[in-house]
Amino acid sequence: MKDDNCIFCKLANGEIPTATLYEDEDFRVILDANPASKGHALIIPKEHYANLYELDDTLAGKAMILAKKMINRLTDVLGCDGYNLVQNNGECAGQTVFHFHLHLIPRYKDDGVGIGWKLNELTEEDREDILSRL
Ligand code: 5GP
Ligand code: ZN
Repeated sequence: MKDDNCIFCKLANGEIPTATLYEDEDFRVILDANPASKGHALIIPKEHYANLYELDDTLAGKAMILAKKMINRLTDVLGCDGYNLVQNNGECAGQTVFHFHLHLIPRYKDDGVGIGWKLNELTEEDREDILSRL
């Protein structure tokens, strides 16, 4: 299914031209318009799923296999030293486009790209709460 008001539906299906690194029947991989680092790319399914919760299981598997292929190839092309895979779900988690996508962010030694969080201590209360209710 496509969503007529969704920019990523249009990009993924070629209705709006964009820098495409790879395409198959399920996905388009494009360069992010506001890259965190040189080569920052997005894996976008051609069908509309708002987020990972909604994503079809088979496509979820294929997306990860494609990510592996892309970062292997792009590491050779870009000469980067590592990769972050980032996938945001929900506004509070930083999602701004509500069509599932997986960020492939190349990392270069000392690049200063800010992907991180403050390390807290796992409390006994949280551990017991989560494990007891799962
Ligand atoms: P999110 O914050 O939802 O995880 O990521 C959305 C990403 O899509 C951002 O990194 C943003 O730069 C990128 N983006 C938004 N609109 C466009 C567009 O029209 N073209 C491209 N190539 N990237 C876009
Ligand atoms: Zn869409």
